[in-house]
Amino acid sequence: MRFAPDSVDALLFTVALGNTDPAASKTGLDEIATVPTLMAVVEVNRMLRDAGALPFLMRHDHFDWHLHATEANAPLAERIRVEVSLALADVIRSGESGRMRVCGAPDCAGLLLDLSRNGSKQFCSVRCGNRMNQLAYRERA
Ligand SMILES: [Zn+2]
Ligand SMILES: [Zn+2]
Repeated sequence: MRFAPDSVDALLFTVALGNTDPAASKTGLDEIATVPTLMAVVEVNRMLRDAGALPFLMRHDHFDWHLHATEANAPLAERIRVEVSLALADVIRSGESGRMRVCGAPDCAGLLLDLSRNGSKQFCSVRCGNRMNQLAYRERA
């Protein structure tokens, strides 16, 4: 496992959120994934500070020990921002910022989280993958 399981969950959630209608994503988290590490660090720190995040360990339901950093009654958007900030902190600390990037299809701005062993994932979705494969095939023909 490359990142903590709850980090992976939060990152996949961010990718899904970022890849829906961009107007629907008000968190601004999708932008962080695409900027250089140093800028991402500044943004992540700002989001944690703005939320007054104080990390503490929790174990509940069927989830093993993981970090919470907001009160349970904090607004949903703030809880999401903080959870994803912690996940991004995990990514940055492990020197794997490149694992979160924009889709390789030139006409797509979708995000992808690359959890493959060799970091070879190229596209945000099967749809983009198929589309680009078809294009490549036609160019060969
Ligand atoms: Zn929890
Ligand atoms: Zn795509």
